Amino acid sequence: MRVERVLLDYGSGGKASHRLIGELFVRHLGNEVLNRLDDAAVLNISGPISVSTDSFTVDPIFFPGGDIGALAVHGTVNDVAMLGARPRYLTCGFILEEGLPMADLERIVQSMGRAAREAGVLVVTGDTKVVPRGMVDKIFINTTGIGEIFVPVAPSGHRARPGDVILVSGFVGDHGLAILSRREGLNFDAPVLSDCASLNHLVVRLLEAVPEVHVLRDPTRGGLATTLNEIAGQSGVECRIFEDRVPVRPEVSGGCSFLGLDPLYLANEGKFLCILPAEHARQALDIMQADPLGRDAARIGEVRAGHPGKVVLETPLGGTRLMDMLEGEQLPRIC
Ligand code: MG
Repeated sequence: MRVERVLLDYGSGGKASHRLIGELFVRHLGNEVLNRLDDAAVLNISGPISVSTDSFTVDPIFFPGGDIGALAVHGTVNDVAMLGARPRYLTCGFILEEGLPMADLERIVQSMGRAAREAGVLVVTGDTKVVPRGMVDKIFINTTGIGEIFVPVAPSGHRARPGDVILVSGFVGDHGLAILSRREGLNFDAPVLSDCASLNHLVVRLLEAVPEVHVLRDPTRGGLATTLNEIAGQSGVECRIFEDRVPVRPEVSGGCSFLGLDPLYLANEGKFLCILPAEHARQALDIMQADPLGRDAARIGEVRAGHPGKVVLETPLGGTRLMDMLEGEQLPRIC
């Protein structure tokens, strides 16, 4: 009999778990490391390494432009890459709600497998737990990524310097608006797709050509404004952004006005900020714009000494305002 839904004993460690591992996880994620199915994976890697972990609880689990499985790969691959590393390995932990349709789980795991192959990372170990109905909402996924740092000095939020320029790799706010419009049941004329994507191949090309990059960071939860606040704080500098240079799709800015949101605070899952000395900005932009994932890259601002720890937004008329970090959780379960 074909089982249509996830049962509690799929997480028991017994026969049912083993069937699930073999028929689903190994089938879609398998590789020579994972397939050994020992207690732990053996990795051949040379230091220094970049490691990052993240848990994914996005609601809904399928959204325009992606799903929780692809997001769990892209999100962690991107964090590992931002340190100037080639992501190599991923671990994944699943917490499943009893009753989750097997078809949904299979679609999610398939999507993870595709995303991992595209990013060139191996899923090397994993875990599955099933909890009773109502104790978790459908599926939560944790991934940890490991990569080899290949630049002499890793980019870091502490390295922004007055005189640097600030680049962004494309349109901001797409992921946040895609999730919110689906959750709120809004239908815009042109549906906004999540930008979720693995940026590691572009980042490797960029850093191999321009190792002088000071900061790389993906503006995920809290968006561009929050990420720039983190960097301004870590580096003790002012980040100044020119409002009319930040790329925002018309449909995203339209959706934001409707929902009372600011696209600069919306999550992105396939964009990065690059801060570097002005003399390298043109070359970096050329590399970014030559890649489909950076086609709409733009120079949006500069680093100054004036207001340490602050993000200043300059309007087209020359007015300025501070862009603070938000208080509390603006948009729960966005990633
Ligand atoms: Mg990040």
